[in-house]
Amino acid sequence: MESIAEGKPRPLTLLLASPRGFCAGVERAIRIVELSIAKYGAPVYVRHEIVHNRFVVERLERLGAVFIDELDMAPDGACVIFSAHGVPKSVPAEARRRKLFYLNATCPLVSKVHAEAERHFGAGRHVVLIGHEGHPEVEGTLGQLPDGAITLIQTIADAQTFQPADPANLAFITQTTLSVDDTHEIVAALRRRFPEIAGPHREDICYATTNRQEAMKRIAPRADLVLVIGAPNSSNSVRLVEVALKAGARNSALIQRAADIDWSWLEGVETLGLSAGASAPELLVDEVIAALRERFTLSIEETTGASEDVTFNVPRALAS
Ligand code: SF4
Repeated sequence: MESIAEGKPRPLTLLLASPRGFCAGVERAIRIVELSIAKYGAPVYVRHEIVHNRFVVERLERLGAVFIDELDMAPDGACVIFSAHGVPKSVPAEARRRKLFYLNATCPLVSKVHAEAERHFGAGRHVVLIGHEGHPEVEGTLGQLPDGAITLIQTIADAQTFQPADPANLAFITQTTLSVDDTHEIVAALRRRFPEIAGPHREDICYATTNRQEAMKRIAPRADLVLVIGAPNSSNSVRLVEVALKAGARNSALIQRAADIDWSWLEGVETLGLSAGASAPELLVDEVIAALRERFTLSIEETTGASEDVTFNVPRALAS
């Protein structure tokens, strides 16, 4: 419990990162589930967590969404939605074979990476995917091309030891939610070994991931502790904790919501940083601020960062 001198809780400066929280791809995916339930009636089946946030998933469950691991858990005739992370080509193919009605909530910025993979493959290049093994987005991207057409690279060491069959005929693509700085280093290592490697002008890391990391770099050097609201399986949220520590925060922790805060972390902290990953709703930020206000005399400084006005349309079937 924080000491209270003369009845007033001690002061705490809160540096609020901006932008933070929901991105356009997450907003679109949630909207697709909501509109599908309204149009086709509950239940609608959603393959995998629509976005990596329990709070969002549980709210959609209450509205009538049923989350399933694989398509065989959806009954015949069901309406099925694929998550924002994207799916291997085999998944819509299986849905068509079973004559399921499906909607694809894959973020358009992930679909863009899928299209790049196709284009390079069509041009006869072997594709290097920079990303994290096991993440659903990586599984989805690997599944755009036949087995063996893509090599996954996770680290600089991987880039230094990778032995392609045809070093002059390579291209790289990236997961959208990586650390901007770490990815630059991996791309630089690839370019040193394979100067002709084709790739996007900038990496495929999306605007939302980039902007949230930039905002984090502005607050972290001043913060004794940085809290990031996000799920442990949310790639962009976990990266924000890493970026905070690299950028100079003395400590940083990932929390799913206010109840996860261990208040002993705040002992001796005078300046606290706060951000939220791209799948965390602002409501959870408000909840953390309310919990802080109960314990501290809070002064809030919100940083100014990139302004975001990106929006994505929902599929045509839901637009009317
Ligand atoms: S984090 Fe980026 S790629 Fe992922 S859903 Fe959001 S905008 Fe799309």
